[in-house]
Amino acid sequence: MKILVLNSGSSSIKFQLFSMKERKVLASGLIEQIGEPLGKIKLNSLHRKEPMVQKLIIPNHEHGIEIISSFLIDDKIIESLDKLDGIGHRVVHGGEFNEAQLINDDIMQEINKNISLAPIHNPANIAGIKAAEIEAPNIPQVAVFDTAFHQTMPPHAYTYALPYDLCQKLHIRRYGFHGTSHKYIAEEAAKILKKPLSKCNLITLHLGGGASVAAIKNGKCIDTSMGLSPLEGLIMGTRSGDLDPAIIFYLKRVENLKLHEIDTILNKQSGLKGICGTNDLREVQEKMKDGDERAKLAFDMFCYHIKKYIGSYYAVLGRVDAIIFTGGIGENSADVRYQSCEGLSHLGIILDKKRNSTNSTHIESKKSVVKALVIPTNEELEIAKLTQRIIQGQKIPQNSGCLNN
Ligand code: ADP
Repeated sequence: MKILVLNSGSSSIKFQLFSMKERKVLASGLIEQIGEPLGKIKLNSLHRKEPMVQKLIIPNHEHGIEIISSFLIDDKIIESLDKLDGIGHRVVHGGEFNEAQLINDDIMQEINKNISLAPIHNPANIAGIKAAEIEAPNIPQVAVFDTAFHQTMPPHAYTYALPYDLCQKLHIRRYGFHGTSHKYIAEEAAKILKKPLSKCNLITLHLGGGASVAAIKNGKCIDTSMGLSPLEGLIMGTRSGDLDPAIIFYLKRVENLKLHEIDTILNKQSGLKGICGTNDLREVQEKMKDGDERAKLAFDMFCYHIKKYIGSYYAVLGRVDAIIFTGGIGENSADVRYQSCEGLSHLGIILDKKRNSTNSTHIESKKSVVKALVIPTNEELEIAKLTQRIIQGQKIPQNSGCLNN
């Protein structure tokens, strides 16, 4: 079975083509600067030693999919897109969908409705779906939502303490994001712990450009740090994470800023970047080595917030089998992991310095009651697996808590 996974941004398409039997990537690539004067493509397949890199005009997403299609045919990966078994699309906001969906007119309508909740992401995802439908009209397409895994949160976790009727009317609630990643690493952790996921209590930390943490009880998400949008929660590369909403009124009143300007500050000029001028954690660490105090402050704040969330999710879970680190930072920064878990021995969390420094799967010390794991995420594979399952008609909810591989 061959599944194409598409992650469409407003001016980009990232893809991976999987052979599901061997869970093997047959081809992958990135198409960028769609709609700009000159676009960029980087395409690779298992028949190549080096990726094909080119600059060319790519007017729209449809043209982008045509490029992918020609590449797959020319590289003899597939005879035509019609030979695919399915196409899985990453869709950021799925509203209250609790599982991936076979795309039809009704589902498209729902995804369209959620544009107001994800004004940047959902229109781009829709552009990718429409382009794929034109290029491969006979192939089943599946939408896999970043929000779906978190739909098991109970009302006391997802409801904001705002006027209830207003929240109901405008669908204001905590949705959570990075769900495909949290789900994937939770399933992988269950395998490592040799326990059914339905019996695992986990704290999963996705620390990349964006960052979020989830509390998973008996395999189901019961809380997560991102909310109505991906702005809430942990400190991120350029996003503020949690803050006092009164700051927004203060900025408007005192600095006379417009709402869209405040939006830009909170989403693009805050987080690590806001504190020390770079959103790249490697650069933050380099600057720290050179004695940059702001970089040290940014790093300390980043780890402190992770520690606070570990503590609060420990409290709501009661028992924790493992904490799991993933994402560019979670998988690679031993210093972030160490500092975030430092002083948590009273919770039974103790890291082993040496194992941690080598990014081993197990980074807890022998004395640690709670396991600490580093698990590389693979959202594309998870999307492919869910697409396959939906196509085969086994509609297992994303949040079923089964040990499903
Ligand atoms: P995205 O969320 O955009 O997919 P990634 O998951 O790739 O991002 O994470 C990007 C972050 O990971 C950046 O802050 C980058 O500095 C950090 N990162 C990547 N490799 C390392 C490393 N070896 N050490 C520390 N941080 C790293």
